[in-house]
Amino acid sequence: MMKIQSIFKYIFVLVYIFFLYFSAKPASSETTRTDSIIKLESLNPKNEIIKEIRNDIRKSISIIKRNNDPENLPELRFFTYKVRKNENFWNIMAKSSLNMDTLSSINSLVSVKDISQGEIIHLSNMRGILYKTETKDTLDTISRKTGVHKKYIQRVNKLTDNGKIDKEYIFIPSAKMSQIERSLLLGVGFANPLKTARKTSAFGRRIDPFDKKFAFHTGIDLACPIGSKIYASRSGKVIFTGNDGGYGLLVKIKHENCYSTYYGHLKKVLVKKGEDVKRGQVIALSGNSGRSTGPHLHFEVRKENRPINPVILLNR
Ligand SMILES: [Zn+2]
Repeated sequence: MMKIQSIFKYIFVLVYIFFLYFSAKPASSETTRTDSIIKLESLNPKNEIIKEIRNDIRKSISIIKRNNDPENLPELRFFTYKVRKNENFWNIMAKSSLNMDTLSSINSLVSVKDISQGEIIHLSNMRGILYKTETKDTLDTISRKTGVHKKYIQRVNKLTDNGKIDKEYIFIPSAKMSQIERSLLLGVGFANPLKTARKTSAFGRRIDPFDKKFAFHTGIDLACPIGSKIYASRSGKVIFTGNDGGYGLLVKIKHENCYSTYYGHLKKVLVKKGEDVKRGQVIALSGNSGRSTGPHLHFEVRKENRPINPVILLNR
C-alpha cells in the first residue's frame, strides 16, 4: 500500500527520473539504453538486466573508492520492478546488489516493512541516496554534507561547471544515510508513548465519529484511563503545548530529520515549550480533551509535516 506521506516524494522522484531521462538522452540519434525507464521483469541472477545492474554497481563503487576518473562511471539508470510473492526489503536488496540506503531512499521508504507484494518499486544501477537540494546548496556544500567528491555528484547528475544546482533532487552516488535514518528505517526510532494501551483506531481512512463522514485519521488512537503517563516517543525539543482544536490539549515534539510527534487529548502537560526531552521521559498525563469520544491518546508521527503511519515505526 502506498503511504500518504510517500506520495509527494514519490511524485518528486518520478519527475526527477523523467527529467533524468530527457537530460540523459544524447543529442545524436544513437540508440542507448537510457531512452526509458526499464521495466525489470525478474531479479533472477541470470536476467541480463540484473547482471548489468550488478556490474554497474560494482564498477561505480570501485571508481569512487579509488578516486578514479568520474567519466568512467556508468550512466545513472532507474528501473521499475513489481514486487513478487515472498520478496521483501532484504531479499530484494541482496538480489539487486543495492544497499539499504539506496533502496529506502529512491523509494521514499520510512520503514523496511514498507515493501510488499504487488507494489511497484524503483531500483537503480548505482548505490547512493536521493538528496533534496536547498536553495543555498552548491556542489561544494552538498559534497561536504554527504562526504562524496563533487566530481562524482556533478557527473552522475549532469550538472554544469558553475556549481549551481537547478534540480530539486539529485542522486549522490555512494552516499549513506545517517544513523538516525537507519534506526528509523529499522523500526527502532520511536518508542511507544504509553506503557500499556489498546489501539482503538488505526491510521488512514476512517469514519469520523462526530459527523459520520470519511476523514483521514492522521495518527493512531490508544485507549488508556485518564491520567495515564505519556512518554516521549523519541528525544527532541518541545515545540508546542496548549489547546489546538480537535486535538484538545496537545504536545508537539520536534525530532531530527524533520520528524515530529503529536500527543493529543491530554489532561495535563508536564513539559514546557522549548524544553529538551529524552526518549521515555514523562511529558504529560492522558485525558479526554478536544474532539474525543472517550479517554485515549491520539498519537501522531509526521515527517516534513506529513503524517505517517506510526505503527510501522514503533519499536515493540
Ligand atoms: Zn486520533
